[in-house]
Parts: sequence; C-alpha cells; structure tokens
Amino acid sequence: MKFVADGMLGKLTRWLRILGYDVKYSNASDDAQLIAVARKERRILLTRDLELFKQATAKGIDASYLEGRTGEEKLAELAGRFGISLSIDMATSRCPKCNTKVKPIGKEKATDQVGKNTLVHYDEFWKCPSCKQIYWRGAHWIGIRKTLETARSSLDQAKE
Ligand SMILES: [Zn+2]
Repeated sequence: MKFVADGMLGKLTRWLRILGYDVKYSNASDDAQLIAVARKERRILLTRDLELFKQATAKGIDASYLEGRTGEEKLAELAGRFGISLSIDMATSRCPKCNTKVKPIGKEKATDQVGKNTLVHYDEFWKCPSCKQIYWRGAHWIGIRKTLETARSSLDQAKE
C-alpha cells in the first residue's frame, strides 16, 4: 500500500512514513501532477481537497478524502479505511523527511551527530541512508506514543 499526499498533508505524511508507509509528498505538486503520480505509481491519493478527490475518483484513481481536523483523527480515518497499523516498528519505519527506510546503526557511529547527553541516555540509533538524519527514541517518543494512543482510541470509538 503506497500513498501520494496533497500539499496540505505534510504532517500526516511524516506520520505515515514513521509507521512504515511509502508516501510521496511535495507541497509544490499541482492537482494534475498528483493524479498523474497516483496513476503511474499505483498510489492511493490522500487529500483534504474535495474537488481534487472528486476529480481523481472520476478518473478511476484510488483516492481518500480526509476530513479529520487533528493528526490523530486523520490517522484514525486511515486506519479505519485501509487497516493501517497504528504502532511503530523500527524494522519497517521510514525517514519522515525523505521516505527512505531507516537502518539501525551502532552507537559509536552516532557519536559525530548526536549530543553527549543523548549518547549517555540512549543505546539504539537509526540512520537514514539517504538524507543521513539520525533517529533515536528520545523525549519526543512519549509524544509520538500519545498521539498513536489517541488515534487508536478514536478508531475504537468510530467502530462502536
Ligand atoms: Zn531521510
């Protein structure tokens, strides 16, 4: 399952990549380009633009119109429609910046790019082979888990 997201869904794009989904995103793409990418690469078009959604479905493109206001609501909508997983598996996680699969690296290889404090507190690191960004489950990880928990509970409510 691969996606292409419209320019209004930058934040959702990052979330889906962290969750391991392949998402193409450029805030410079116009409607025709988004539809062309969806068709050519067999990607599901994610949009907040009802006109674009109608245009795409009329052309036989698989598209999803997202109404959720918050990131949590949008994730719950997608989980309900496509059964996407709302938990992070670092083995399949992608770089939120550039969509490349991240790879685990040894702590010693993170020393150049990571602060001393971080090295003291964390042992597991991942690196994006493409943009070279290093990731670890730092303080922000609590926020990530909270967001996913909220998304899961709003999905459960929608099911009831
Ligand atoms: Zn990257």
